[in-house]
Amino acid sequence: MKELVALAVPVKVIIMNKNFNIYTAIAYASGKPHIGNTYEIVLADAIARYKRLLGYEVYFQTGTDEHGQKISDNALSNNQSNQKFVDDISLEIRRIWDIVNASYDKFVRTTNPGHKAMVSKIFEKLYKQGDIYKDVYEGLYCTPCESFFTESQLIDGKCPDCGREVVSTKEEAYFLKLSNYADRLEKYINQNPEFISPVSRKNEIVNNFIKPGLQDLCVSRTSFDWGVPVTFDEGHVVYVWIDALSNYITFIGYDIDGEHEPQFAKHWPADLHVIGKDILRFHVIYWPIMLMALDLPLPKKILGHPWLLSGEEKMSKSKGNIIYADDLVKLFGVDPVRHYLLSQMPYANDGIFTHELLIDKINSDLVNNLGNLLNRTLSMSHKYFDGIVIQPGETTDIDYSLINFINNQKIQIEKKMEEYKISDSVNLIFDIFNRANKYIDETTPWVLAKDDSNKERLATVIYNLLETLRIGAVLIQPFLPDTADKIFYQLNTKNKSYDSINDFRGMDFDIKLNIPEPLFLRIDKQEKLEEIKNS
Ligand SMILES: [Zn+2]
Repeated sequence: MKELVALAVPVKVIIMNKNFNIYTAIAYASGKPHIGNTYEIVLADAIARYKRLLGYEVYFQTGTDEHGQKISDNALSNNQSNQKFVDDISLEIRRIWDIVNASYDKFVRTTNPGHKAMVSKIFEKLYKQGDIYKDVYEGLYCTPCESFFTESQLIDGKCPDCGREVVSTKEEAYFLKLSNYADRLEKYINQNPEFISPVSRKNEIVNNFIKPGLQDLCVSRTSFDWGVPVTFDEGHVVYVWIDALSNYITFIGYDIDGEHEPQFAKHWPADLHVIGKDILRFHVIYWPIMLMALDLPLPKKILGHPWLLSGEEKMSKSKGNIIYADDLVKLFGVDPVRHYLLSQMPYANDGIFTHELLIDKINSDLVNNLGNLLNRTLSMSHKYFDGIVIQPGETTDIDYSLINFINNQKIQIEKKMEEYKISDSVNLIFDIFNRANKYIDETTPWVLAKDDSNKERLATVIYNLLETLRIGAVLIQPFLPDTADKIFYQLNTKNKSYDSINDFRGMDFDIKLNIPEPLFLRIDKQEKLEEIKNS
């Protein structure tokens, strides 16, 4: 008799979490953001678009941080009310985010009444449960950064974040008691090595701030009133960080009594916070501790991106080296500016911007490489086949070499995007265009065209080039969305999905291609630099 063996087949219910929640820092509404500030929204946008391409339901939030002394000072010196001042700046910031084609789902403003009411309640709750206490603050303050420092945190006696002079101050203030959660935070950071990226920055935070022992954070001020009032103590306003950081939950339906709106569970926790390296500390120490105190899950990852330098220096008004995104877009177009930011900014180290470098990059990548490939391919299609896409014949070794190269690049791109290494990914895509230009040299279509017996081979070569361009356009969509659309239009294809690039047969046969038009115009460097100098 056959023994009955009970096969233990586990019934696995796989719930694919297809939501992806991405938040940028909110931009400080003290002035017009320069191209370095604008980098963050472009970076986050590329990630959001990439995730959408992969099929995720993405929620992408950005906005403006509108309280604090510096804003109040700037409003005063502009002879404006605080509200009018932040209304104008917030609008200007949003205008620039739109100019660079940022596909955010929500743009938040911290002067929103609902947000302010919830910040007051958060402050009250933390006070009642003993996480916030009142004391006297005596210490060193950096006005532009609106941050307090201890003597030991200063670098050469100056602010460690901006390098400016600090002033000693003394005032009554409320403090967030970090010691209540310091051990939990340190344990969390150690157990989740992916939480803070890049790793070099994580080590900086752990060694410089956590290991020496966390200083309690000052969370109220009495010296200015442009902020959310502390409801139970007149004269105190909530000092920027509790107000600003709370935006990540207050605008998605968080409720202090746990009666969250339905979308809260969907949009929190954040899968990714994209923030500048200068405010990393606030996002990996104070923000997680606030969330622990509110009994909420922590964001899954905090990406601290580097700065974009103007030449070798940090952009600043005092140095007169500020470059604005809207000016650049006017001079060069949106995608060339996006391309520079996304392909040239390193993952961990600071990047460099100059007009010369931008022009070189446009001419080499966009004009010579991609633009030329599209133009040559379409021109040959029109010349040899009247612009009709012909079904390819036999695939040869030369073709397989191209196809394998593309497949391999795709795998590499996926890996790099998992790590949010954007510039590596963009450069891997441009390698594909480069490889296809080489394929033209290898296959010499103009030689094939001389002999009618090569007609099928010629059709195959042209098909492979068209399909390579289509795959490149699918891949480039998150980074250069307008350019991708222009390529799709010229190829007359609607096959734009990520799934469509798996089998190298995504170009439909027997369709007619559109007339080739240059994607980008070559820039005369000297002429353009003169134009910029005179503008
Ligand atoms: Zn400073």
